[in-house]
Amino acid sequence: MSDHGHATPTTATGDQELPATEDEWRARLSPERFAVLRQKGTEPAGSGDLLHVAGSGVFTCGGCGAELFSTSDKFESGSGWPSFTRALAEGIIEEHDDRSYGMRRTEITCARCGGHLGHVFPDGPRPTGLRYCVNSLSLEFQPAEG
Ligand SMILES: [Zn+2]
Repeated sequence: MSDHGHATPTTATGDQELPATEDEWRARLSPERFAVLRQKGTEPAGSGDLLHVAGSGVFTCGGCGAELFSTSDKFESGSGWPSFTRALAEGIIEEHDDRSYGMRRTEITCARCGGHLGHVFPDGPRPTGLRYCVNSLSLEFQPAEG
């Protein structure tokens, strides 16, 4: 049984049970993924494997497999991190006020597992004007069939 009170988004894929403790997360994830997803780390700009992907597909959460972003909303922001104008669906990403490092930013996390994804900024292109700036290490890429 989970002690989390909130409902699981219906868009989540894979009913794998989520780790209950940070030690379990540490055992499941690579050290690099653990540092980003569970400790709110940031990969170096330009280092991510998913900065450029070939073809279309879906980006899932590196922690729990929930589907988070689509290549159709991906754009080249020049920031050095994968950037999207919007999430794949409503309610799959949570936003949190982040005042660390003397800045005021909006942190984004996976609504299913609470994993840190990156930040969302109000300087994106049309149609949303938003820039979801996400660590490659927080994501997995699932190429579309065919
Ligand atoms: Zn997740």
